[in-house]
Amino acid sequence: MQYVSTRAAASAASSSPSNFSDILLGGLAADGGLFLPTAYPQVSGAELDAWRKLSYADLAYEVLRKFATDIPEADLRALTAKTYTKEVYRNARAGEKASQITPLRVLEEGDGRKLVLQALSNGPTLAFKDMAMQLLGNLFEYTLAKSGAQLNIFGATSGDTGSAAEYAMRGKKGIRVFMLSPHKKMSAFQSAQMFSLQDPNIFNIAVEGVFDDCQDMVKAVSNDLPFKAAQKIGTVNSINWARVVAQVVYYFRGYLAATSSNVEKVSFTVPSGNFGNICAGHIARMMGLPIAKLVAATNENDVLDEFFRTGVYRVRKSAETYHTSSPSMDISKASNFERFIYDLVGRDGERTRALFHKVETQGGFDLSGKPGSDGDEFKKVAQYGFQSGKSTHKDRLDTIRDVADDYGITIDTHTADGIKVAREHIEKGVTMIVLETALAAKFNETILDALGVDAERPAGFENIEDLPQKFVVMSTDVEKMKAYIASHTGL
Ligand SMILES: *Cc1c(COP(=O)(O)O)cnc(C)c1O
Repeated sequence: MQYVSTRAAASAASSSPSNFSDILLGGLAADGGLFLPTAYPQVSGAELDAWRKLSYADLAYEVLRKFATDIPEADLRALTAKTYTKEVYRNARAGEKASQITPLRVLEEGDGRKLVLQALSNGPTLAFKDMAMQLLGNLFEYTLAKSGAQLNIFGATSGDTGSAAEYAMRGKKGIRVFMLSPHKKMSAFQSAQMFSLQDPNIFNIAVEGVFDDCQDMVKAVSNDLPFKAAQKIGTVNSINWARVVAQVVYYFRGYLAATSSNVEKVSFTVPSGNFGNICAGHIARMMGLPIAKLVAATNENDVLDEFFRTGVYRVRKSAETYHTSSPSMDISKASNFERFIYDLVGRDGERTRALFHKVETQGGFDLSGKPGSDGDEFKKVAQYGFQSGKSTHKDRLDTIRDVADDYGITIDTHTADGIKVAREHIEKGVTMIVLETALAAKFNETILDALGVDAERPAGFENIEDLPQKFVVMSTDVEKMKAYIASHTGL
């Protein structure tokens, strides 16, 4: 399996395909595009049937080996077996089986309509990012050990991504994590989750500034190419291809657990921000998984909903990016969206490059086909099953209350966006699976507002705020940051 950039020129000479291991530790392709396989591997009906009885880890192996053809099969099997265990994904709720890794719960059934929740947030940090990040930690350690190399992950977080990365990389040989977060801007729970890690390879840096300041520092350091090379700096952001592939697995799992034969179809509603999660759904569908609709659910930051309603992709300015009660979806642009656009425009790298150049220079593009637009491919979006909807703070509160009253469970704010939008798209005869992207305990403030009681915390998280914390506070001085990194890598 070979990978190409979404911006690669058609002439084969100028685009050099790479294999899975080549792109594992990197981010963007050299031309600024994102990596995708040259063709999506296909899954036959017979294969899908055979996969019904597999454990999650074995299913992950079957899906991954189609993409990571350069990793020896026995090694890949060991990596997935080590990652997808009931000990790692142990935060299942009452009534869920931890061994299923992503257990399904039927919320509503009747009148030919069926609404199902698929729990993706039972991992160490209680959010779906653990589904991919835990595998990435093991894949990184494995690849680095083979070459005797080191990797220093440097990133910025406003919450979920940073903690998922730290819990995936803690104690891993050859890897250190330097994670910036805005000082005193995360919730007490989120800070406690990250800062209570005492592992010597984890460095939490609270920056006196806001999240954007943290991101600017990461950019400034990454733009210093000699420093980056000397210090073996890498990232684990949401465009990482291995993260996307790991997420493909739970679409297969959700489908297989919700159906009894391959003639059935299901739809998925996915709380969406950077288009990473739902991009994996698109890939599963392209591989032949019988998915009817893929519904992107956004919050007030509705970049994606706008595109799927109108064909206009318009990134937002900072002032137009709202801080909401589903904060992990507060994005101004959807960094994985280019992967879908590449498919939508017929895998034309030059055209994709031109469109995203327009995003960089003019803030967006228009594929509606109207006079003066950049193209008319929006009319093909339906073929890919995409639909969308949005949700507001009030919708979240109402949905959290409804779900608690009707089904007796407390859902988090992002999942509430998903359920709100799923209800608008559910059809008779097609099971609608909503992906649960976090547990409510992570966003307790809003749960208190909605229900008047605290969200339940999984065992082991009861007194997390009281644990000793390890972090340093630093200013936004980039040179001091570089000196701090260099003094701790010893490189
Ligand atoms: C990251 C995140 C999302 C958004 O996922 P994308 O892959 O960026 O679309 C939704 N919900 C939660 C809880 C998250 O952490």
